[in-house]
Amino acid sequence: MNIELTPADVRAARAIAQWSQDELAKAAGVGISTIADFEKGTRRPIANNVEAIRRAFAERHIWFTPNGPAVFGVVVIHVVTETGGFDLIFRYMAAEAAAVQEIVATFGKIDADHVELWMDQVVTPELRAAVDALVVKFGAALPQLNKLKQKIGLLTDGEYFLMLPGQPASTIDRLAFEQYLHALNHPDAEPLSGEEEDGLFARLIERYDFTSPRTDRKTVIGSGAQPCVCRFCHRTSDETKFKKVAHVIPTALGNDHLKSAEECDDCNEYFGQHTEPSLIAMLDLQRVFLGTQGRGGTNGRPKLAFGRDSLTHDGAKVVIKAYDVAKGEDDSVEVTLGRGARQIPVAAYRALVKIAVAVIGAEHLPDLTETIDWVRVGSHGDRPLPLVATATIELPSNPSAQITVYTRKEPHDRLPHVVGEFRLGCYMFVFALPFSKRDAWNLIGFFDDPDFTDTFRHYFAAAQWAHVDLSGTSPMRIAPRLKFVRR
Ligand SMILES: [Zn+2]
Repeated sequence: MNIELTPADVRAARAIAQWSQDELAKAAGVGISTIADFEKGTRRPIANNVEAIRRAFAERHIWFTPNGPAVFGVVVIHVVTETGGFDLIFRYMAAEAAAVQEIVATFGKIDADHVELWMDQVVTPELRAAVDALVVKFGAALPQLNKLKQKIGLLTDGEYFLMLPGQPASTIDRLAFEQYLHALNHPDAEPLSGEEEDGLFARLIERYDFTSPRTDRKTVIGSGAQPCVCRFCHRTSDETKFKKVAHVIPTALGNDHLKSAEECDDCNEYFGQHTEPSLIAMLDLQRVFLGTQGRGGTNGRPKLAFGRDSLTHDGAKVVIKAYDVAKGEDDSVEVTLGRGARQIPVAAYRALVKIAVAVIGAEHLPDLTETIDWVRVGSHGDRPLPLVATATIELPSNPSAQITVYTRKEPHDRLPHVVGEFRLGCYMFVFALPFSKRDAWNLIGFFDDPDFTDTFRHYFAAAQWAHVDLSGTSPMRIAPRLKFVRR
């Protein structure tokens, strides 16, 4: 049931969300005057806009009740079993809060003011009975319980699984949890002998440091230093401005939280105009299918034109409007879209490298001056660029893009100085930073080099990789073809 929104409701909800009128307007994808006039009581928005405002608040877990706006909860539990991971997302209203407490208490402990979810869980007949009881009591209100029951049904008695308060931030974290779980479930397994003993990560950890800044809460790279120095043009706050908020990863890729204090306004504007649009365009299909939350558009969801055709995500589903829709054999549907947004391959590569440079430890910057010149203004001239590896991976889809940067610890003939791993949902890109002074060669073919495959074993344990050439300097527009097959 929807309560009719009043101006007072919207003001109160804004106070809870700590949004300005402008921020609400952006989140809802409506004009600021719509909000201002509504709150003053001078004009009531059209129904669609009221709905957009309601949805924008709902995304912040604010709902409207007859007594005004109220915040209800969301609990995300990430479950890892030996066959994979999945999320349980419990969105609940006040009436269901007790149910969620009871669920958490089944897998952990709740004291007066302290909630603890235990990571190690083991399947027992008692646990199955407890889950069955939860489904009977709360399954209708919280359908995610049925999913939990079904997944636990696939495990055997005595089998361990893990419950984490959210998704692992990177592949390496996820694989560390999987290894830990494997050890719990196979305590008597023969230790692997000799060379193999060190498993998937030992070489990597021996040879590389890595950093994976969080994108799920406010994280600012390099705050505090005075005067500010821009990582890209090396000018200080005496010489240029640092007034704008520099997002490390573009907001169109779902990043609202990861920011940099070491990117000046000029560089920020340059990247926003010349490199980031190509990366975003390259990921257009991915972000529409993931429903990546950006800003503007339809409540921040992607709204893309492919020639006369369009692809949108309305918050619940993907909507494709196209002229060329053909029925294929065996019930399939084939859609050929017009040409999409303009992109320059090398600009997308430079945008990926820019993200890595933005988060890398400052001690690496002096050896990356040529890399940074290339990212900031340069062309690569006659110098060849390594291919970028891409894969679709089975990771829980994270709402925001993620960056992990690996930096080599010691000199090495073949291993790249810096490797970046960029992820949007289940789509992953692995790339080397070209032109580092710590690399003795041009890194062409680094990904298939035996030293690399031996070090970054976790990439080869799970995924099928393709390689894309992002060295092209000419603009292009891609016309995607989609095929939908009934299973
Ligand atoms: Zn700058």
